[in-house]
Amino acid sequence: MGKKIIVAGLGHGGIAAAAILAERGFDVTVYEKKSEGTLGYDWTDIFAPDALRIAGIPMPDEDKYEYKEHMTFFAPTAKRSLTQRVPKDKLEIKMERKDIYAHLVSHAVSKGVKIVYDCEVTAPLTLGNRVVGIGTSLGDFQADLIIDACGINSPVRTNLPRSMGIEKCVRRNEKITIYRAFYNKASDKEVEAKFRVMLFAGGVKSVSWVASEDEHTDLLVGRFEEFSLQELEEYADFLRQTSPRLGKEKVRGGQFVEIPVRHPLSVMVGDGYAAIGDSAFMTVPLIGSGIANSLKAARMLADTVTNDKQCAFSAETLWNYQVKYYKELGAGLAPLECVKYLLLTLTPDELDYCFDSGMLNEDNITMTADFTSLYDLFKFDIPDLMLKGKSAIKNPQLLKKILGCGTEIAQVTAICAAMPKKWDRKKVIQWAKAYSKPFNK
Ligand SMILES: Cc1cc2nc3c(=O)[nH]c(=O)nc-3n(C[C@H](O)[C@H](O)[C@H](O)COP(=O)(O)OP(=O)(O)OC[C@H]3O[C@@H](n4cnc5c(N)ncnc54)[C@H](O)[C@@H]3O)c2cc1C
Repeated sequence: MGKKIIVAGLGHGGIAAAAILAERGFDVTVYEKKSEGTLGYDWTDIFAPDALRIAGIPMPDEDKYEYKEHMTFFAPTAKRSLTQRVPKDKLEIKMERKDIYAHLVSHAVSKGVKIVYDCEVTAPLTLGNRVVGIGTSLGDFQADLIIDACGINSPVRTNLPRSMGIEKCVRRNEKITIYRAFYNKASDKEVEAKFRVMLFAGGVKSVSWVASEDEHTDLLVGRFEEFSLQELEEYADFLRQTSPRLGKEKVRGGQFVEIPVRHPLSVMVGDGYAAIGDSAFMTVPLIGSGIANSLKAARMLADTVTNDKQCAFSAETLWNYQVKYYKELGAGLAPLECVKYLLLTLTPDELDYCFDSGMLNEDNITMTADFTSLYDLFKFDIPDLMLKGKSAIKNPQLLKKILGCGTEIAQVTAICAAMPKKWDRKKVIQWAKAYSKPFNK
Protein backbone atom coordinates (compact mmCIF):
# COMPACT_ATOMS: atom_id res chain seq x y z
CA MET A 1 0.00 0.00 0.00
CA GLY A 2 1.19 3.55 -0.78
CA LYS A 3 1.41 6.46 1.63
CA LYS A 4 -1.56 7.20 3.82
CA ILE A 5 -3.85 10.08 2.89
CA ILE A 6 -6.84 11.30 4.89
CA VAL A 7 -9.59 13.37 3.34
CA ALA A 8 -11.41 15.32 6.06
CA GLY A 9 -15.06 15.78 5.02
CA LEU A 10 -16.67 14.37 1.92
CA GLY A 11 -16.59 17.59 -0.12
CA HIS A 12 -16.80 17.33 -3.92
CA GLY A 13 -13.14 18.16 -4.59
CA GLY A 14 -11.95 15.94 -1.74
CA ILE A 15 -13.76 12.83 -2.93
CA ALA A 16 -12.70 13.45 -6.55
CA ALA A 17 -9.03 13.82 -5.51
CA ALA A 18 -9.38 10.72 -3.31
CA ALA A 19 -10.51 8.66 -6.33
CA ILE A 20 -7.52 9.68 -8.47
CA LEU A 21 -5.06 9.10 -5.63
CA ALA A 22 -6.50 5.70 -4.66
CA GLU A 23 -6.31 4.62 -8.30
CA ARG A 24 -2.63 5.61 -8.23
CA GLY A 25 -1.91 3.38 -5.25
CA PHE A 26 -2.31 5.68 -2.25
CA ASP A 27 -4.14 4.43 0.82
CA VAL A 28 -7.00 6.95 1.02
CA THR A 29 -9.68 7.22 3.72
CA VAL A 30 -12.43 9.85 3.86
CA TYR A 31 -13.98 10.82 7.22
CA GLU A 32 -17.49 12.29 6.93
CA LYS A 33 -19.76 13.47 9.72
CA LYS A 34 -23.04 12.61 7.99
CA SER A 35 -24.47 9.11 7.59
CA GLU A 36 -24.17 7.09 4.40
CA GLY A 37 -26.85 8.10 1.86
CA THR A 38 -27.68 11.42 3.56
CA LEU A 39 -25.10 13.66 1.87
CA GLY A 40 -26.03 16.85 0.09
CA TYR A 41 -29.21 18.90 0.14
CA ASP A 42 -32.73 18.23 -1.04
CA TRP A 43 -32.41 20.33 -4.18
CA THR A 44 -30.71 20.50 -7.55
CA ASP A 45 -27.36 22.05 -8.54
CA ILE A 46 -25.97 23.42 -11.74
CA PHE A 47 -22.41 22.81 -12.88
CA ALA A 48 -20.13 22.46 -15.90
CA PRO A 49 -20.08 18.80 -16.96
CA ASP A 50 -16.59 19.08 -18.44
CA ALA A 51 -15.23 19.29 -14.88
CA LEU A 52 -16.17 15.61 -14.44
CA ARG A 53 -14.03 14.68 -17.43
CA ILE A 54 -11.11 16.71 -16.07
CA ALA A 55 -11.39 14.88 -12.74
CA GLY A 56 -11.51 11.51 -14.55
CA ILE A 57 -15.13 10.85 -13.55
CA PRO A 58 -17.57 9.44 -16.13
CA MET A 59 -20.72 11.36 -17.07
CA PRO A 60 -23.73 10.29 -15.02
CA ASP A 61 -26.55 8.34 -16.68
CA GLU A 62 -28.59 10.57 -18.99
CA ASP A 63 -31.76 10.24 -16.93
CA LYS A 64 -29.91 11.78 -13.95
CA TYR A 65 -29.38 15.23 -15.44
CA GLU A 66 -30.82 17.84 -17.78
CA TYR A 67 -29.44 21.00 -19.34
CA LYS A 68 -29.99 24.20 -17.41
CA GLU A 69 -32.63 26.77 -18.46
CA HIS A 70 -31.34 30.19 -19.53
CA MET A 71 -31.64 32.69 -16.68
CA THR A 72 -33.41 36.03 -17.07
CA PHE A 73 -32.01 38.82 -14.88
CA PHE A 74 -34.39 41.50 -13.65
CA ALA A 75 -33.49 45.05 -12.59
CA PRO A 76 -34.65 46.11 -9.08
CA THR A 77 -37.85 47.71 -10.44
CA ALA A 78 -38.42 44.55 -12.58
CA LYS A 79 -39.18 46.84 -15.54
CA ARG A 80 -36.13 45.74 -17.53
CA SER A 81 -34.72 42.27 -17.96
CA LEU A 82 -31.88 40.57 -19.79
CA THR A 83 -31.84 36.91 -20.80
CA GLN A 84 -28.64 34.91 -21.04
CA ARG A 85 -27.48 33.66 -24.45
CA VAL A 86 -25.57 30.48 -23.68
CA PRO A 87 -24.28 28.55 -26.71
CA LYS A 88 -25.35 24.89 -26.70
CA ASP A 89 -21.82 23.56 -26.18
CA LYS A 90 -21.37 25.78 -23.10
CA LEU A 91 -24.53 24.78 -21.25
CA GLU A 92 -24.27 23.60 -17.66
CA ILE A 93 -26.12 20.56 -16.37
CA LYS A 94 -28.65 20.43 -13.57
CA MET A 95 -28.65 17.46 -11.22
CA GLU A 96 -30.07 16.51 -7.84
CA ARG A 97 -27.35 17.19 -5.22
CA LYS A 98 -27.89 13.71 -3.77
CA ASP A 99 -27.36 12.15 -7.22
CA ILE A 100 -24.13 14.12 -7.72
CA TYR A 101 -22.85 12.77 -4.42
CA ALA A 102 -24.00 9.21 -5.18
CA HIS A 103 -22.15 9.41 -8.51
CA LEU A 104 -18.91 10.77 -7.02
CA VAL A 105 -18.98 8.32 -4.11
CA SER A 106 -19.61 5.20 -6.21
CA HIS A 107 -16.78 6.24 -8.56
CA ALA A 108 -14.38 6.80 -5.63
CA VAL A 109 -15.29 3.51 -3.93
CA SER A 110 -14.73 1.66 -7.23
CA LYS A 111 -11.17 3.09 -7.22
CA GLY A 112 -10.46 1.83 -3.70
CA VAL A 113 -11.32 4.83 -1.51
CA LYS A 114 -12.49 3.92 2.01
CA ILE A 115 -15.20 6.07 3.58
CA VAL A 116 -15.96 6.30 7.30
CA TYR A 117 -19.39 7.88 7.83
CA ASP A 118 -20.83 9.22 11.11
CA CYS A 119 -17.40 10.50 12.06
CA GLU A 120 -17.07 14.18 12.95
CA VAL A 121 -13.64 15.71 12.40
CA THR A 122 -12.90 18.06 15.30
CA ALA A 123 -9.39 19.44 14.68
CA PRO A 124 -6.07 18.78 12.99
CA LEU A 125 -3.36 16.88 14.86
CA THR A 126 -0.12 18.80 14.55
CA LEU A 127 3.52 18.28 15.34
CA GLY A 128 5.16 21.70 15.30
CA ASN A 129 4.15 23.19 11.96
CA ARG A 130 3.23 19.87 10.35
CA VAL A 131 -0.27 18.44 10.18
CA VAL A 132 0.03 14.75 11.00
CA GLY A 133 -3.57 13.65 11.41
CA ILE A 134 -7.07 14.53 12.53
CA GLY A 135 -8.93 14.34 15.80
CA THR A 136 -12.44 12.94 15.33
CA SER A 137 -15.47 11.75 17.27
CA LEU A 138 -14.15 8.21 16.70
CA GLY A 139 -10.62 8.96 17.91
CA ASP A 140 -7.38 10.23 16.39
CA PHE A 141 -6.17 9.17 12.94
CA GLN A 142 -2.73 9.82 11.51
CA ALA A 143 -1.63 10.15 7.89
CA ASP A 144 1.15 11.47 5.68
CA LEU A 145 -1.16 14.06 4.12
CA ILE A 146 -4.49 15.59 5.18
CA ILE A 147 -6.74 16.92 2.42
CA ASP A 148 -9.21 19.35 3.94
CA ALA A 149 -12.60 19.08 2.20
CA CYS A 150 -14.76 20.04 5.20
CA GLY A 151 -16.27 23.14 3.61
CA ILE A 152 -16.44 26.84 4.52
CA ASN A 153 -16.15 26.45 8.31
CA SER A 154 -13.71 23.54 8.26
CA PRO A 155 -12.58 22.63 11.78
CA VAL A 156 -9.26 21.58 10.27
CA ARG A 157 -8.46 24.93 8.63
CA THR A 158 -9.80 27.01 11.51
CA ASN A 159 -7.68 25.15 14.08
CA LEU A 160 -4.34 25.13 12.25
CA PRO A 161 -1.41 26.70 14.10
CA ARG A 162 -1.32 30.43 13.35
CA SER A 163 2.31 30.07 12.32
CA MET A 164 1.22 28.18 9.17
CA GLY A 165 -0.09 31.51 7.84
CA ILE A 166 -3.42 30.05 6.66
CA GLU A 167 -6.52 32.25 7.10
CA LYS A 168 -9.02 30.78 9.52
CA CYS A 169 -12.18 32.86 9.43
CA VAL A 170 -14.53 34.18 6.81
CA ARG A 171 -15.83 37.72 7.30
CA ARG A 172 -19.55 38.46 7.09
CA ASN A 173 -19.26 40.18 3.69
CA GLU A 174 -17.24 37.24 2.31
CA LYS A 175 -20.11 34.78 2.55
CA ILE A 176 -23.70 34.85 1.45
CA THR A 177 -26.53 33.42 3.53
CA ILE A 178 -28.92 31.51 1.33
CA TYR A 179 -32.42 30.25 1.94
CA ARG A 180 -33.61 27.73 -0.61
CA ALA A 181 -36.79 25.68 -0.90
CA PHE A 182 -39.06 24.17 -3.53
CA TYR A 183 -42.70 25.32 -3.28
CA ASN A 184 -45.82 23.98 -4.95
CA LYS A 185 -46.98 25.48 -8.26
CA ALA A 186 -49.71 27.98 -7.53
CA SER A 187 -50.82 27.99 -11.17
CA ASP A 188 -50.30 26.04 -14.37
CA LYS A 189 -50.13 29.18 -16.51
CA GLU A 190 -47.09 29.30 -18.83
CA VAL A 191 -44.53 31.81 -17.60
CA GLU A 192 -42.45 33.91 -19.94
CA ALA A 193 -39.16 33.80 -18.06
CA LYS A 194 -38.85 30.36 -16.50
CA PHE A 195 -35.74 31.15 -14.48
CA ARG A 196 -36.11 34.66 -13.00
CA VAL A 197 -33.08 36.09 -11.21
CA MET A 198 -33.91 39.30 -9.33
CA LEU A 199 -31.26 41.77 -8.20
CA PHE A 200 -32.16 43.96 -5.22
CA ALA A 201 -35.86 43.18 -5.69
CA GLY A 202 -37.95 45.57 -3.60
CA GLY A 203 -34.84 47.63 -2.86
CA VAL A 204 -33.42 44.93 -0.56
CA LYS A 205 -29.71 44.19 -1.13
CA SER A 206 -30.22 40.59 -2.13
CA VAL A 207 -30.20 38.22 -5.03
CA SER A 208 -33.18 35.94 -5.45
CA TRP A 209 -34.44 33.52 -8.03
CA VAL A 210 -37.76 31.95 -8.78
CA ALA A 211 -37.43 29.06 -11.23
CA SER A 212 -40.49 27.40 -12.68
CA GLU A 213 -39.99 23.66 -12.86
CA ASP A 214 -42.52 21.07 -14.06
CA GLU A 215 -43.17 19.72 -10.56
CA HIS A 216 -42.52 22.72 -8.33
CA THR A 217 -41.24 26.33 -8.13
CA ASP A 218 -37.70 26.78 -6.88
CA LEU A 219 -37.09 29.77 -4.58
CA LEU A 220 -33.64 31.01 -3.57
CA VAL A 221 -32.98 34.16 -1.56
CA GLY A 222 -29.42 35.26 -0.74
CA ARG A 223 -28.31 38.15 1.50
CA PHE A 224 -25.06 39.36 3.05
CA GLU A 225 -26.63 39.26 6.51
CA GLU A 226 -28.55 36.75 8.59
CA PHE A 227 -32.31 36.81 8.09
CA SER A 228 -35.12 35.04 9.85
CA LEU A 229 -37.71 32.63 8.53
CA GLN A 230 -40.34 35.28 9.10
CA GLU A 231 -38.41 37.84 7.02
CA LEU A 232 -38.03 35.18 4.35
CA GLU A 233 -41.77 34.45 4.29
CA GLU A 234 -42.57 38.19 3.97
CA TYR A 235 -40.06 38.54 1.15
CA ALA A 236 -41.45 35.44 -0.61
CA ASP A 237 -44.91 37.07 -0.45
CA PHE A 238 -43.43 40.16 -2.07
CA LEU A 239 -41.85 38.04 -4.84
CA ARG A 240 -45.20 36.31 -5.43
CA GLN A 241 -46.51 39.61 -6.81
CA THR A 242 -44.27 39.21 -9.87
CA SER A 243 -44.01 35.40 -9.71
CA PRO A 244 -47.59 34.19 -9.10
CA ARG A 245 -46.54 30.62 -9.86
CA LEU A 246 -44.65 30.49 -6.54
CA GLY A 247 -47.00 28.62 -4.20
CA LYS A 248 -47.08 28.80 -0.40
CA GLU A 249 -46.65 25.12 0.39
CA LYS A 250 -43.05 24.04 0.88
CA VAL A 251 -42.50 20.69 -0.83
CA ARG A 252 -38.71 20.22 -0.59
CA GLY A 253 -35.65 21.82 1.01
CA GLY A 254 -36.26 24.84 3.23
CA GLN A 255 -32.90 25.51 4.82
CA PHE A 256 -30.50 28.37 5.51
CA VAL A 257 -26.95 27.70 4.30
CA GLU A 258 -23.76 29.69 3.73
CA ILE A 259 -21.63 29.92 0.59
CA PRO A 260 -18.21 31.60 0.46
CA VAL A 261 -18.22 34.38 -2.13
CA ARG A 262 -14.67 35.67 -1.83
CA HIS A 263 -11.18 35.39 -3.27
CA PRO A 264 -9.60 31.95 -3.03
CA LEU A 265 -7.68 31.14 0.16
CA SER A 266 -4.36 32.99 0.12
CA VAL A 267 -2.34 29.99 1.32
CA MET A 268 -3.95 26.63 0.52
CA VAL A 269 -1.13 24.34 1.62
CA GLY A 270 1.17 23.65 4.54
CA ASP A 271 3.38 20.77 5.66
CA GLY A 272 1.10 17.72 5.48
CA TYR A 273 -1.95 19.82 4.56
CA ALA A 274 -3.90 20.91 1.47
CA ALA A 275 -7.32 22.57 1.31
CA ILE A 276 -9.81 22.06 -1.52
CA GLY A 277 -13.36 23.15 -2.41
CA ASP A 278 -15.24 25.51 -0.09
CA SER A 279 -12.56 24.96 2.52
CA ALA A 280 -10.21 26.86 0.16
CA PHE A 281 -13.01 29.23 -1.05
CA MET A 282 -13.00 27.97 -4.63
CA THR A 283 -16.47 29.28 -5.47
CA VAL A 284 -17.05 31.96 -8.12
CA PRO A 285 -17.38 35.09 -5.92
CA LEU A 286 -20.20 36.57 -8.02
CA ILE A 287 -22.49 33.54 -8.12
CA GLY A 288 -21.27 31.02 -5.54
CA SER A 289 -20.82 28.05 -7.90
CA GLY A 290 -18.08 25.81 -6.59
CA ILE A 291 -18.63 22.27 -7.79
CA ALA A 292 -16.80 22.51 -11.12
CA ASN A 293 -13.82 24.41 -9.66
CA SER A 294 -13.51 21.86 -6.86
CA LEU A 295 -13.48 18.98 -9.35
CA LYS A 296 -10.89 20.70 -11.53
CA ALA A 297 -8.76 21.41 -8.45
CA ALA A 298 -8.95 17.71 -7.55
CA ARG A 299 -6.97 16.87 -10.68
CA MET A 300 -4.37 19.59 -9.90
CA LEU A 301 -3.96 18.41 -6.31
CA ALA A 302 -3.77 14.71 -7.19
CA ASP A 303 -1.14 15.39 -9.88
CA THR A 304 0.93 17.50 -7.47
CA VAL A 305 0.79 14.78 -4.81
CA THR A 306 1.74 12.08 -7.33
CA ASN A 307 4.63 14.15 -8.69
CA ASP A 308 6.10 14.42 -5.18
CA LYS A 309 8.28 11.33 -5.64
CA GLN A 310 9.79 11.55 -2.14
CA CYS A 311 6.27 11.77 -0.66
CA ALA A 312 7.39 14.73 1.46
CA PHE A 313 3.95 16.37 1.14
CA SER A 314 5.50 19.54 2.49
CA ALA A 315 4.37 23.12 1.90
CA GLU A 316 7.22 23.30 -0.61
CA THR A 317 6.10 20.33 -2.72
CA LEU A 318 2.37 21.07 -2.38
CA TRP A 319 2.85 24.72 -3.38
CA ASN A 320 2.75 23.65 -7.06
CA TYR A 321 -0.92 22.82 -6.53
CA GLN A 322 -1.67 26.39 -5.47
CA VAL A 323 0.42 27.86 -8.31
CA LYS A 324 -1.49 25.75 -10.83
CA TYR A 325 -4.86 26.56 -9.27
CA TYR A 326 -4.24 30.30 -9.39
CA LYS A 327 -2.86 30.12 -12.92
CA GLU A 328 -5.85 28.24 -14.28
CA LEU A 329 -8.68 29.54 -12.09
CA GLY A 330 -7.86 31.57 -8.97
CA ALA A 331 -6.29 34.59 -10.70
CA GLY A 332 -9.47 34.98 -12.78
CA LEU A 333 -11.82 34.40 -9.85
CA ALA A 334 -10.25 36.78 -7.31
CA PRO A 335 -11.04 40.02 -9.25
CA LEU A 336 -14.69 38.95 -9.37
CA GLU A 337 -14.86 39.72 -5.67
CA CYS A 338 -14.17 43.38 -6.56
CA VAL A 339 -17.24 43.29 -8.82
CA LYS A 340 -19.24 41.79 -5.96
CA TYR A 341 -18.23 44.74 -3.75
CA LEU A 342 -19.15 47.15 -6.55
CA LEU A 343 -22.61 45.59 -6.72
CA LEU A 344 -22.97 45.91 -2.96
CA THR A 345 -22.20 49.63 -3.09
CA LEU A 346 -24.71 50.33 -5.87
CA THR A 347 -28.09 51.75 -4.99
CA PRO A 348 -31.16 50.06 -6.54
CA ASP A 349 -31.54 53.19 -8.73
CA GLU A 350 -27.99 52.85 -10.03
CA LEU A 351 -28.55 49.18 -10.79
CA ASP A 352 -31.76 50.09 -12.65
CA TYR A 353 -29.76 52.64 -14.61
CA CYS A 354 -27.25 49.93 -15.65
CA PHE A 355 -30.12 47.94 -17.17
CA ASP A 356 -31.98 50.95 -18.67
CA SER A 357 -28.94 52.65 -20.23
CA GLY A 358 -27.61 49.52 -21.91
CA MET A 359 -24.47 49.48 -19.74
CA LEU A 360 -25.35 45.88 -18.98
CA ASN A 361 -26.18 43.60 -21.89
CA GLU A 362 -26.93 39.90 -22.46
CA ASP A 363 -23.25 39.02 -22.78
CA ASN A 364 -22.46 40.53 -19.37
CA ILE A 365 -24.89 38.20 -17.59
CA THR A 366 -24.15 35.08 -19.64
CA MET A 367 -22.22 32.97 -17.19
CA THR A 368 -21.58 29.77 -19.09
CA ALA A 369 -20.00 26.52 -18.00
CA ASP A 370 -16.62 28.15 -18.74
CA PHE A 371 -17.24 31.22 -16.59
CA THR A 372 -14.18 31.71 -14.40
CA SER A 373 -13.17 35.31 -15.03
CA LEU A 374 -14.40 38.77 -16.03
CA TYR A 375 -13.04 38.27 -19.53
CA ASP A 376 -15.73 35.65 -20.12
CA LEU A 377 -18.43 38.31 -19.60
CA PHE A 378 -16.98 41.34 -21.36
CA LYS A 379 -16.20 41.13 -25.06
CA PHE A 380 -14.35 44.46 -25.03
CA ASP A 381 -15.62 45.52 -28.45
CA ILE A 382 -15.33 49.22 -29.24
CA PRO A 383 -19.02 50.18 -29.84
CA ASP A 384 -20.06 48.38 -26.64
CA LEU A 385 -17.29 50.08 -24.65
CA MET A 386 -18.31 53.46 -26.07
CA LEU A 387 -21.93 52.91 -25.08
CA LYS A 388 -20.88 51.85 -21.60
CA GLY A 389 -18.55 54.85 -21.29
CA LYS A 390 -21.18 57.38 -22.50
CA SER A 391 -23.79 55.99 -20.12
CA ALA A 392 -21.37 56.00 -17.18
CA ILE A 393 -20.32 59.62 -17.82
CA LYS A 394 -23.96 60.69 -17.56
CA ASN A 395 -24.05 59.29 -14.01
CA PRO A 396 -20.96 60.69 -12.20
CA GLN A 397 -21.65 58.93 -8.88
CA LEU A 398 -21.90 55.57 -10.63
CA LEU A 399 -18.84 56.35 -12.76
CA LYS A 400 -16.82 57.01 -9.60
CA LYS A 401 -17.79 53.63 -8.18
CA ILE A 402 -16.99 51.83 -11.43
CA LEU A 403 -13.58 53.51 -11.71
CA GLY A 404 -12.82 52.57 -8.10
CA CYS A 405 -13.73 48.97 -8.87
CA GLY A 406 -11.58 49.03 -12.02
CA THR A 407 -8.58 50.18 -9.99
CA GLU A 408 -9.11 47.37 -7.49
CA ILE A 409 -9.44 44.80 -10.28
CA ALA A 410 -6.13 45.96 -11.77
CA GLN A 411 -4.49 45.82 -8.34
CA VAL A 412 -5.76 42.29 -7.56
CA THR A 413 -4.82 41.05 -11.05
CA ALA A 414 -1.28 42.38 -10.61
CA ILE A 415 -0.92 40.82 -7.14
CA CYS A 416 -2.14 37.43 -8.40
CA ALA A 417 0.44 37.58 -11.20
CA ALA A 418 3.16 38.28 -8.62
CA MET A 419 2.43 35.14 -6.57
CA PRO A 420 5.75 33.35 -5.81
CA LYS A 421 6.17 30.45 -8.22
CA LYS A 422 8.36 28.52 -5.78
CA TRP A 423 7.72 28.03 -2.06
CA ASP A 424 9.65 30.44 0.11
CA ARG A 425 7.90 30.81 3.46
CA LYS A 426 8.80 34.45 3.99
CA LYS A 427 7.92 35.50 0.46
CA VAL A 428 4.66 33.54 0.49
CA ILE A 429 3.51 35.11 3.77
CA GLN A 430 4.40 38.57 2.44
CA TRP A 431 2.53 37.91 -0.79
CA ALA A 432 -0.53 36.56 1.09
CA LYS A 433 -0.66 39.76 3.13
CA ALA A 434 -0.51 41.95 0.03
CA TYR A 435 -3.12 39.79 -1.74
CA SER A 436 -5.59 40.01 1.15
CA LYS A 437 -5.21 43.78 1.58
CA PRO A 438 -7.59 45.04 -1.15
CA PHE A 439 -10.30 42.81 0.28
CA ASN A 440 -9.99 44.00 3.88
CA LYS A 441 -13.23 45.97 3.81
C1 LIG B 1 -27.77 26.57 -1.45
C2 LIG B 1 -26.52 26.25 -2.22
C3 LIG B 1 -26.63 26.14 -3.58
C4 LIG B 1 -25.48 25.90 -4.33
N1 LIG B 1 -25.62 25.75 -5.67
C5 LIG B 1 -24.55 25.46 -6.41
C6 LIG B 1 -24.70 25.19 -7.79
O1 LIG B 1 -25.80 25.20 -8.34
N2 LIG B 1 -23.58 24.92 -8.49
C7 LIG B 1 -22.34 24.89 -7.93
O2 LIG B 1 -21.36 24.65 -8.62
N3 LIG B 1 -22.19 25.12 -6.61
C8 LIG B 1 -23.25 25.39 -5.84
N4 LIG B 1 -23.09 25.60 -4.49
C9 LIG B 1 -21.74 25.61 -3.93
C10 LIG B 1 -21.25 24.20 -3.79
O3 LIG B 1 -22.11 23.48 -2.99
C11 LIG B 1 -19.84 24.16 -3.19
O4 LIG B 1 -19.05 25.18 -3.66
C12 LIG B 1 -19.19 22.84 -3.56
O5 LIG B 1 -20.00 21.81 -3.09
C13 LIG B 1 -17.81 22.68 -2.97
O6 LIG B 1 -17.91 22.65 -1.58
P1 LIG B 1 -17.30 21.41 -0.78
O7 LIG B 1 -17.83 20.17 -1.37
O8 LIG B 1 -15.86 21.62 -0.69
O9 LIG B 1 -17.92 21.69 0.65
P2 LIG B 1 -19.29 21.25 1.25
O10 LIG B 1 -20.34 21.16 0.21
O11 LIG B 1 -19.54 22.14 2.41
O12 LIG B 1 -18.99 19.77 1.76
C14 LIG B 1 -18.25 19.55 2.93
C15 LIG B 1 -18.43 18.12 3.39
O13 LIG B 1 -17.71 17.94 4.58
C16 LIG B 1 -18.56 17.47 5.59
N5 LIG B 1 -18.13 18.03 6.85
C17 LIG B 1 -18.22 19.31 7.25
N6 LIG B 1 -17.72 19.45 8.49
C18 LIG B 1 -17.30 18.22 8.87
C19 LIG B 1 -16.70 17.71 10.04
N7 LIG B 1 -16.44 18.50 11.08
N8 LIG B 1 -16.38 16.41 10.09
C20 LIG B 1 -16.64 15.58 9.02
N9 LIG B 1 -17.23 16.00 7.91
C21 LIG B 1 -17.55 17.30 7.82
C22 LIG B 1 -19.97 17.92 5.19
O14 LIG B 1 -20.95 17.11 5.77
C23 LIG B 1 -19.89 17.79 3.68
O15 LIG B 1 -20.16 16.48 3.27
C24 LIG B 1 -24.21 25.79 -3.71
C25 LIG B 1 -24.11 25.87 -2.32
C26 LIG B 1 -25.25 26.08 -1.57
C27 LIG B 1 -25.11 26.13 -0.08
